[in-house]
Amino acid sequence: MTHHPANPHGAHLTIDLDAIIHNWRLLAARGEANGAACGGVVKANAYGTGIEKTGAALYQAGCRTFFVAHVSEGERLRRVAPEAVIYVLNGLPSGGAGAYQAASLRPVLGSIEEIGEWGDHVTQAGLSGEAAIHVDTGLNRLGLDPEAWSELAERIGQGDYGFMPTLLLTHLASSETLDTPQNAEQARLFAEMAELAPDIPASFCNSSAVFRDDLPKYSLMRPGYALYGGNPTPWTSNPMREVVRLQAPILQIRSIEAGERVGYNARWQAKRPTVLVTISLGYADGFPRLPPNPDTPVGEVLIGETLCPIVGRLSMDLMIIDATDAHPEHVQRGAIVTVIGGVLDIDHVGQMAGTIGYLMLTSLSPRYTRTYLGG
Ligand SMILES: *Cc1c(COP(=O)(O)O)cnc(C)c1O
Repeated sequence: MTHHPANPHGAHLTIDLDAIIHNWRLLAARGEANGAACGGVVKANAYGTGIEKTGAALYQAGCRTFFVAHVSEGERLRRVAPEAVIYVLNGLPSGGAGAYQAASLRPVLGSIEEIGEWGDHVTQAGLSGEAAIHVDTGLNRLGLDPEAWSELAERIGQGDYGFMPTLLLTHLASSETLDTPQNAEQARLFAEMAELAPDIPASFCNSSAVFRDDLPKYSLMRPGYALYGGNPTPWTSNPMREVVRLQAPILQIRSIEAGERVGYNARWQAKRPTVLVTISLGYADGFPRLPPNPDTPVGEVLIGETLCPIVGRLSMDLMIIDATDAHPEHVQRGAIVTVIGGVLDIDHVGQMAGTIGYLMLTSLSPRYTRTYLGG
């Protein structure tokens, strides 16, 4: 792994498909207790892990309902999940119904216009027109508001639009937050909206909601982040298994005096005689460049067992690390530095970089070489 032949400089990403499967089973088990099936959200290239590999692994593990954001993602997934139900969350773009039909994708319809257009298309084409309806309960992003849904629910249930919805869904705004009334408000609104069309299976839970006993599970759960090892329960320890590990070899080592400056614009100054190492990983690899404030490092990496701070401004292709406290045995040309993995879980790395673990995942660079474990 030290010198990957395809990319001897660069960082190497290890994605554990068995861990993704383990995580899906853990989520599915929480649904089973409540009679809910477990889908998988694989939008954005399966949160950076690779939609074909991850989709195939989940499909083989028994996942039969998937959610993507774009039609193009659904088309890629269809090749590895031939019999799966694939919903496309971002709705029906004007004139886009044909592409859905060609790959047997189901739109998640979020407005009267989308519902009307889909109904017309499937009626003319003589199709049954499986599709989901998205209702908005507080995110104010996509979906019919309660008033629009109450006007439509009965008519759509009678088949007036030429198709029968196969799913009714809404999305939570604050599911990872315990001390907000918004979750209960959204749950109450959704219960009212679902009651208007009791024959349509309903879907309410993202990753965090799966782990909350105060929120209903309905027919189908839609976890994403937790599948990839993100912590769905930030109020306590992470129940999920680690999926992503990012490592890079040391390119160079240098010693500098106290007072010397490091990196672009000389933003970091050594307070003591310092050992620096440089690795091939920069903002062009999707690592956030700007720390929360200029004096805070964008993060730390693991050299051996030692956490070492990233220092100076992150470059396009390179990262500089203060390795003074690492064991000299691990501070050698070609030795491996861990950027994500172990104590540096994606939530922690995202937080240190002033962002969220979700973004650390979706930013995983195509420049990294990849190894998939298991599956
Ligand atoms: C992204 C998304 C999910 C998955 O959310 P996680 O927090 O990653 O589990 C579920 N439903 C919708 C509508 C989404 O956009």
